Amino acid sequence: MSWTQPAYNQYQFHVELSNICNAACPICPRYWAGSKITRPGLMPTSISEKQFKEWFPPDIMSNRVDRMMLCGNQGDPFAAKDIIGILDYCASVLPSNRQLVTHSNGGLRSEEVWREAGNILQGNEKWYMWFSIDGLEDTNHLYRRNVNWDKLMRNATAFIEAGGTAYWDFLVFKHNEHQIEDVKKLAKEMGFKNVRIKNPDGLVWDNKIQKRGVYDGNGELEYYIEVADDPQYINAPIGMERNLEDPTPSVGRPPEKWEDLYTEDHYKQYQWHRINCKSLKKTGSEIMIQCDGTVMPCCYIGELWTSGRQDDAKRQLVNMWDMENLDLTKNGFDHIMNYLDSTIMNSWKFSTYQEGKCMYCAKICGDNSPIDRLIHTKAGPGHDKISI
Ligand code: SF4
Ligand code: SF4
Repeated sequence: MSWTQPAYNQYQFHVELSNICNAACPICPRYWAGSKITRPGLMPTSISEKQFKEWFPPDIMSNRVDRMMLCGNQGDPFAAKDIIGILDYCASVLPSNRQLVTHSNGGLRSEEVWREAGNILQGNEKWYMWFSIDGLEDTNHLYRRNVNWDKLMRNATAFIEAGGTAYWDFLVFKHNEHQIEDVKKLAKEMGFKNVRIKNPDGLVWDNKIQKRGVYDGNGELEYYIEVADDPQYINAPIGMERNLEDPTPSVGRPPEKWEDLYTEDHYKQYQWHRINCKSLKKTGSEIMIQCDGTVMPCCYIGELWTSGRQDDAKRQLVNMWDMENLDLTKNGFDHIMNYLDSTIMNSWKFSTYQEGKCMYCAKICGDNSPIDRLIHTKAGPGHDKISI
């Protein structure tokens, strides 16, 4: 198994079209510690239609793509000004039996733009949109801060009426767990194909379930969010203790240089875990392309890379990689896949971190992976009957 072996040579590209966003979700790595302060060092960047066509020429799109996913860790694809041109290009060169999947909070751009997107994607159920909507009018904004409900509803309606296939992606917290059935009802009435119920990540640290502070533009606490009461919607090992203390009243301003921030994580407990990579699959290997052209082996490492967290796992990767080799503006995919094989994949043969085993891979894709508990229900093609 490797990123270059032919059996895995069909890729599930995950492209971050932009690191710009209208929203300020409390767990988003775009922001400092749950505040509305953009993280230091973030250079607002979007992929243009011209760049996209250079990075994904027609022969790659025709022969190497199992799935093209437009999403990202720190921005919304609809913040890219060329989103319509890029969707149009994908629809014109991607074989119709390959997936074209876009994620959005739905709060950006006009109804006309969404109608155009619906028009481009209509007629193929493998080409669809995930709308990230965490509740209803009175709750969605508690996580998707700054998303205007009426605009979101108008945009989603325009997309669906134009023939686009839409799915509703719903993160369940304590403040919206009572709305699951009402969300399914509304989704059905609006013409969504299905609702995916997801258990949120980012509410567990120090081996406890935590209340997560939501901070304003000065880093002062506004309110907090927490896991659902119903244990089936909690992304934590069964029986994990809860920290009942309220979050810190202030996170202040971030350090001047992000590099100065070092946080400890408890990687030791994962050292002996067997790694089962979630990226390398017979059905297509996921590769993440960030908006500056940096290629990452998966979105989990992509998130670590861009979040600014400076922990031991990040330091290990910084020492492992010469980033020139992962730069799509300088290398083709074949070179990059070879480089991933010889670095991160090679690290999995070691037993210990000291020898070189990748710490982040052991945490994310080892036994007892927190990622395996994220998706509560499956939705999307093949799972259409599950939810609504
Ligand atoms: S919608 Fe996505 S990119 Fe935007 S703030 Fe929320 S999590 Fe971050
Ligand atoms: S964290 Fe490592 S093992 Fe897991 S998907 Fe990413 S590259 Fe693969």
